[in-house]
Amino acid sequence: MTGLCVHGAVIKHGFELDPHVQTGLVFMYAELGCLSSCHNVFDGAVEPDLVTQTAMLNACAKCGDIDFARKMFDEMPERDHVTWNAMIAGYAQCGRSREALDVFHLMQMEGVKLNEVSMVLVLSACTHLQVLDHGRWVHAYVERYKVRMTVTLGTALVDMYAKCGNVDRAMQVFWGMKERNVYTWSSAIGGLAMNGFGEESLDLFNDMKREGVQPNGITFISVLKGCSVVGLVEEGRKHFDSMRNVYGIGPQLEHYGLMVDMYGRAGRLKEALNFINSMPMRPHVGAWSALLHACRMYKNKELGEIAQRKIVELEDKNDGAYVLLSNIYADYKNWESVSSLRQTMKAKGVKKLPGCSVIEVDGEVHEFIVGDKSHPRYDEIEMKLEEISKCLRLSGYVANTNPVLFDIEEEEKEDALSKHSEKVAIAFGLISLKGVVPIRVVMNLRICWDCHNVAKMISKIFNREIIVRDRNRFHHFKDGECSCKDYW
Ligand code: ZN
Ligand code: ZN
Repeated sequence: MTGLCVHGAVIKHGFELDPHVQTGLVFMYAELGCLSSCHNVFDGAVEPDLVTQTAMLNACAKCGDIDFARKMFDEMPERDHVTWNAMIAGYAQCGRSREALDVFHLMQMEGVKLNEVSMVLVLSACTHLQVLDHGRWVHAYVERYKVRMTVTLGTALVDMYAKCGNVDRAMQVFWGMKERNVYTWSSAIGGLAMNGFGEESLDLFNDMKREGVQPNGITFISVLKGCSVVGLVEEGRKHFDSMRNVYGIGPQLEHYGLMVDMYGRAGRLKEALNFINSMPMRPHVGAWSALLHACRMYKNKELGEIAQRKIVELEDKNDGAYVLLSNIYADYKNWESVSSLRQTMKAKGVKKLPGCSVIEVDGEVHEFIVGDKSHPRYDEIEMKLEEISKCLRLSGYVANTNPVLFDIEEEEKEDALSKHSEKVAIAFGLISLKGVVPIRVVMNLRICWDCHNVAKMISKIFNREIIVRDRNRFHHFKDGECSCKDYW
């Protein structure tokens, strides 16, 4: 209400046509989330100057009308660095990372300088899209233009490199930083863990404590992931208990989910279930999913059924839960249950999310969706896939068609299996990335058993490092092994 009083006073005293006042009003209404009032003020301006226009653009971006913001942006006769920053921030904050990067590149071409706050946003867009090449460019830009290296910017760099699977570079940036806060440490610890370096992540946690940095809830997410990767259940439990006992941090759902995952990974399914039952709040999908995954790994039908039922109670269209349970049934060769589960899925309209994999080649992002052959080099890719499967067969590989694609007819299975988006992306990586550059693929689902096996074998037969980021973690394939130690 104060805002309206201010506006009232402005009109009363005849200042409403003053550009400074108009800019101030636009800012004020944007803060209040009243976009229509911003429009009213802006439309009343006779010749809005750059500052007022930028304020309006900022208001649209802030209040969620990013497309109008872009329209204004494109029509502005001149723009300063504040305008560019506002546009990039707008895209980054509403999750339209690709467009945020596009604007960043436009800006580079026009030679405008960005400040460190915007660089953090650009980096978060790179992290979100998992585009390491772009992330590297941003890093190079930071260095070339001597953008002020704040703790936040350094942390964003560590986070970007770690989440894009380049953990060496992440640690290089980390150790090169003059100042590190709890978020920097947490990013590095979590980055090591998610890339399969569990011991290293726990060592780093010890370093952090030795330097006297107080851990927070986010740190413990990273630490528990580290314990989980190495299979240190008791140590994980100790850290979990220390959260409350030593640091006074109340564990959140995510911490509980990670503990369930840890017990599950170690095959201690009963304890995982007991842990869920001891949660002080209602267990979430994450906790039950961790248990269901463990049931799939350790072939436990009874617990698997319980977990799946609980998940569906919370999210009735959770396709992953149906697929996992049907995979468990398929392992038991219980085809009747598989098909009745299929019927239920159909009846409830549960759709399996189509697989989608992304690979970056020379800074260009290529996207492959399962079943889509529209890529200009698809013929070459198919030839490569043929060659791969020949090589694999010579090495004694047999496709496991059983559990993977229960919703596809039998005769199509092997063909469909060989065309999984992650395989297509890897094949494209082999033909388009020359030399020894690792092949980096990002996918939207969890990698399936068959693709995991194939990637392991390709890494050995073709002597090529492959890094796959799936929905949950990184898989670094090298010499026929995977960093996840075959549990994911
Ligand atoms: Zn697959
Ligand atoms: Zn793996």
